Amino acid sequence: MGKTEKITDMGKDTVTAEYMIEVENLVKCYGDKYAVDDISFRVKRGEVVGFLGPNGAGKSTTINVITGFLSSTSGTVRVAGYDVLDESEKAKRLIGYLPEQPPLYVDMTVDEYLNFVYELKGCTYNRKKHLDEVCTVTKIADVRGRLIKNLSKGYRQRVGIAQALVGNPPLIILDEPTVGLDPKQVIEVRSLIRALGENHTVLLSTHILSEVGTVCDRIVIINKGKIIADEKKDDIIRVAEDGRSYIAKICGPSREVTALLKSRQGVRRVERQSERDGDAYSYIIESEPGVDIRKTLFFSLAQNNWPLIGLEPVGENLEEVFIKLVDRSDTKKPGRERRRPIIDDGGDKTDEK
Ligand code: ADP
Ligand code: MG
Repeated sequence: MGKTEKITDMGKDTVTAEYMIEVENLVKCYGDKYAVDDISFRVKRGEVVGFLGPNGAGKSTTINVITGFLSSTSGTVRVAGYDVLDESEKAKRLIGYLPEQPPLYVDMTVDEYLNFVYELKGCTYNRKKHLDEVCTVTKIADVRGRLIKNLSKGYRQRVGIAQALVGNPPLIILDEPTVGLDPKQVIEVRSLIRALGENHTVLLSTHILSEVGTVCDRIVIINKGKIIADEKKDDIIRVAEDGRSYIAKICGPSREVTALLKSRQGVRRVERQSERDGDAYSYIIESEPGVDIRKTLFFSLAQNNWPLIGLEPVGENLEEVFIKLVDRSDTKKPGRERRRPIIDDGGDKTDEK
C-alpha cells in the first residue's frame, strides 16, 4: 500500500499480505434461511472488486461478516491474513467501511463528526493535516462547518466515504454507495471511488452492473447467497454471451442487402430498422454464439459495393449480461439437496428489509 501516501502521510501499518480479503466457505443463516450459502472469493491487495447482485442476494450480509459486524454461521474470513473473529481488532483497523446506511450523526457538523470518528478510531496522525486531506479527497471541504442534516444526499454520502477514509485504512468497503443519489451525484461518487481505487484495495457492492463496469478490475456476482460468476470484467461479458448483436449502417438497396446478410454463415438474424441516413439503412445483425461475423460482413458488402459506414456492438451492455447471468442461475437447480429452503420462496417480505 505504498501509494496510499498520495492521500495522507500515513502508511505506518504496512500491509504485505497478498490477499486483503479471503472468504472461505462462508455460510450465514437467519433461522433456517441461507442468506449466504457457502461462498468463497478472494481480493488481492490493490484490486478493485465489484460485488454485484440483485437486492436480497446476500451482499450486505457478506460485507457485514467481513467487517466484523456480524458473525458467520460457518466458514472463515481473513482480512490481510487476520481472522476476522480471532483477530478482529487487527482486521478492523485495516478496513474503512461505508455501510448501506451511513453511520452519520446528523446533528453534528461535518467537522465535528469527522473529529469524532478520528477519536473513535484512535488515530495518531496529525489530526488537522489528516482530516484536511480526507476532506479534500472526498470534496467536502466546503461543507465542513455545516450540519450533516442540512446536506444533500450526495454530500452526505461523501461524508460517509470520508468517515471510512479516516485513519487511512488500506481496504475500503462500500455497500451500495450510490443508492438514492441523483445522476450527477452518482457520477461524482463513482469518480471518487475510481480515485480511491488507485491507492486502495476496494470492495464495492452494488446491484447496478454499470456501477462496477467503469470502476472495477474484477466482478464477483452473487445471487441467492451463491456466487454465480467471479471474473475479470471483460470476461464476464464473454461468460454470459450467447450470440452477439451489432447495429450496422449500410448503403445500398435494402432488400438485397438484407438477403446478403442473411445468407452469410454465422448470421442468425437480420432486421432492418426504419430510419434512414442518406442512402444508408441500419440493420440489427445477430451472430451465432462464438462466431465473429464482422470481417465476413465487411468483405461481403465491399464485394457488392455496398459501403459499410457504421458497425457497433449491441447487447453487450453489462446490465443485460448481469440479468442474463442471474436468470441463468435462477433456473439452475440448487447444488445440494440437503439444503432445502435456500433463500427466498418468491415474494418473501424479508427481501425488502
Ligand atoms: P443484499 O445486501 O444483497 O440486498 P442482504 O445480505 O441484505 O442482501 O440479504 C440477504 C438475504 O438475507 C435476504 O433474503 C434478506 O431478506 C435476508 N436477511 C438479511 N438480514 C436479515 C435479518 N437480520 N434477518 C433475517 N433475514 C435477513
Ligand atoms: Mg444490501
